[in-house]
Amino acid sequence: MKTLLLTPWMTPHNVVSWETAVTLIFLGKVEILEEYDEEIRSPSISLRAPAVARLKKLVSLVKRGVKFSRINVFSRDNFRCQYCGSRKPMRELNYDHVIPRTQGGRTVWENIATCCYPCNERKGSRTPEQAGMKLIRAPFRPRSLPISHLYLEAHQVPPEWNGYCITASDGGDALLLATG
Ligand SMILES: [Zn+2]
Repeated sequence: MKTLLLTPWMTPHNVVSWETAVTLIFLGKVEILEEYDEEIRSPSISLRAPAVARLKKLVSLVKRGVKFSRINVFSRDNFRCQYCGSRKPMRELNYDHVIPRTQGGRTVWENIATCCYPCNERKGSRTPEQAGMKLIRAPFRPRSLPISHLYLEAHQVPPEWNGYCITASDGGDALLLATG
């Protein structure tokens, strides 16, 4: 079970495990807006699993910066191949070491770009210059990610979230958007 976290101004912010959400409740950082029917029981507590929670403040979560991950690289790049510019669902994207690992390139924000499979294949183990390809934008370390790029599999969006976000389906991926 996942919990949809909303910003203080009620737009989708993140999706976390219910365990994380319960921790946030006990820390007093969120208020619960919707619950699942399932109960969570332990010797000391019994509560219904949180479905939607609103953060009271955003600051502490944002300060940590954006974790380096495949999906966050795609989000930073708007799910667009940084060579040909085509926008693709997640399963049709790969990530590219701009300076290939065989030439000492590291797996860091500044050296990883979203890439479609055909461009990835074309580039191979070469730098963009060596391959005669041009990056649309040099990769960088993002300070935050635009919330409209919170992607989930469409079947992972439970009915309890209706009214708090709308989903735009893109193949197997669902894009969580603010309502209104
Ligand atoms: Zn491409």
